[in-house]
Amino acid sequence: MKSASRRSRKIIERLQDAYPDAGPMLKFSSRFELLVAVVLSAQSTDEQVNRVTAALFREANRPQDFAALPQSELEEKIKGVGLYKNKARSIKNLSQMLLEQYGGEVPGDYEALLQLPGVGTKSANVILAVGFGQPGLGVDTHVHRVTNRLGLVQEKNPENTEKALKALLPEKLWSISHHLFIFHGRQVCKARRPDCDHCCVEDLCAKVLLK
Ligand code: SF4
Repeated sequence: MKSASRRSRKIIERLQDAYPDAGPMLKFSSRFELLVAVVLSAQSTDEQVNRVTAALFREANRPQDFAALPQSELEEKIKGVGLYKNKARSIKNLSQMLLEQYGGEVPGDYEALLQLPGVGTKSANVILAVGFGQPGLGVDTHVHRVTNRLGLVQEKNPENTEKALKALLPEKLWSISHHLFIFHGRQVCKARRPDCDHCCVEDLCAKVLLK
C-alpha cells in the first residue's frame, strides 16, 4: 500500500512538470455558469461547450434566465453539443430547483449537487473542486482509462475508480490529479493509441512494471 502511494505521488509530480498549466478548460465566470457548462460537457468536448456558452452566457447566465426560457429556445441555443434536448431539460429543471430550494445559489454540498438534474458524481466533484475549492476528484473517461493503465487502480467503472483514487491519494491532491490525468489522457495516453514512447511516466506505468 505504501509503495502504491509513493508511486502515485511520483506520477503526479512528473505530470505536474509535464503539464504545468493543467486546470479547467471550461470557460465560466460564476458558479452557476460553471454548473451549466459542466452539465453541457457530458459526452461533449470542452471546446464544443465553450463555443456554445460564449454566445449562450451573453443572453442567459442566471437561474431565473433559464427558468424563463422556453425549452425549444434553449435547445436551439445549445444544439452544438450532444444530447442537447436532454441537457436543455436538465438545465431548465435545475434552474427551477436552485430558485425554489437554494435562493438561486449553487449549493456547495456533494449530496445536494447530486440531487440536481443532469449532475452525476463526476460533475458534482468538478463543481466542488473548481467552483468551491473543496476536495473533489471527478473521474471521466480519461481519468478512468489513464489511472487503470498506470495500475494506480484496477476498477471496471468510473464510480469505483473514483472511490479507489480517493482512498489512494491525499485530499489535497484530488483536484489537481483530476486535471493532470485528463491532460495526460488527451495528449499522450490516448484511448486508441497511447504514445508510450513519449510518456513521462512510462517507467512508473503498470504496462512496464508488470512486464
Ligand atoms: S506508458 Fe503508455 S499506457 Fe502507461 S501511462 Fe504512459 S502512455 Fe499510458
